[in-house]
Amino acid sequence: MSRPIRARIDLAALRHNHAVARHHAGDARIWSVVKADAYGHGLLIVALALADTTDGFALIELDGAIALREAGIRQPILMLEGFYEAEELPAFAEYGLTTVIHSRAQAEAFCAVPLPVRLPVYLKLNTGMNRLGLNPDEVPAVLEQIRRSRLASSVTLMTHFADADGPRGVDWQMQALSGVTAALPQSLANSAGLLRHGQTQADWVRPGIMLYGGSPFPETSAEELGLRPVMTLASELIAVRDILPGQRVGYGGTFTAERPTTIGVVACGYADGYPRHAPNGAPVLVAGRRCGIVGRVSMDKICVDLTDLPQKVGAGETAILWGEGLPADEVAAAAGTLGYELFCALAARVPVVEVG
Ligand SMILES: *Cc1c(COP(=O)(O)O)cnc(C)c1O
Repeated sequence: MSRPIRARIDLAALRHNHAVARHHAGDARIWSVVKADAYGHGLLIVALALADTTDGFALIELDGAIALREAGIRQPILMLEGFYEAEELPAFAEYGLTTVIHSRAQAEAFCAVPLPVRLPVYLKLNTGMNRLGLNPDEVPAVLEQIRRSRLASSVTLMTHFADADGPRGVDWQMQALSGVTAALPQSLANSAGLLRHGQTQADWVRPGIMLYGGSPFPETSAEELGLRPVMTLASELIAVRDILPGQRVGYGGTFTAERPTTIGVVACGYADGYPRHAPNGAPVLVAGRRCGIVGRVSMDKICVDLTDLPQKVGAGETAILWGEGLPADEVAAAAGTLGYELFCALAARVPVVEVG
């Protein structure tokens, strides 16, 4: 027997969520965003499950892109931050990768390296996020430079929304983009843009979190968006004990029992990727019911209050940390973070199993 924690990846749910993205995308094509090991779900697991249905894959990591090609992925692959060193460009050519160019320096480097094949280029514009991207007034010169180099097989304009999930929306960024008059294909929308702002469809959309069944919106659940959880982090109770009023639980004794209390110990901790800051009361599903965390999350264990369960449970009982029956977004909110971070933080020591 091994430690009972598992991350189950539901491929049917993944394909369902991709179909939801397809529905919202209209005629736009879909870059399935698989950076960060497919948001912790397993890059190849996700890519192979979507290989027959999606139009392309987008990520950050060159080794990941090469792994996709070596696994037989034929679709376009978009490198969301492009290359970091000019020395990577021959690999972009060898593996047929689409590069982002987000700065004048990157454009210079791109145009200085002759390659055996032309690469498709995504010119990233800063329309208000103020992280990466050319300012709109820099675009004509960079476009001209790229054209003159004859090293790009196509150019697409791209931008990223800062508040598609929030009150500022996207129109102010769409406005900034409209100042760039080049007649080129465009790619704008992340999950929030795709789900909430139909005007952002353009030619290619870039959904990430929604594919994994997470909601990009704080006030709208994934279920309300028609999305299904893909990752279920499941473990078991490995011990159950009764404590008396006044007794405390865990490091620092941050929970004190006020009544006779039954404590379950779940084999999951922050070394599995569970957020250490989850407070007393954060939900865990035990025997299908919500129980609250008591005491501090430790490296390998979490304690939960089983007192109000209708039946006695013992070691071996299933505990769902998030996923089926308990949205990751809810656990994340209790811990002051986002579903994105929970998924991406899944630790390498947790075995991943595919279902569906
Ligand atoms: C991560 C990322 C996305 C996907 O964002 P979600 O909010 O997960 O849908 C889209 N575009 C870019 C440039 C990204 O970095």
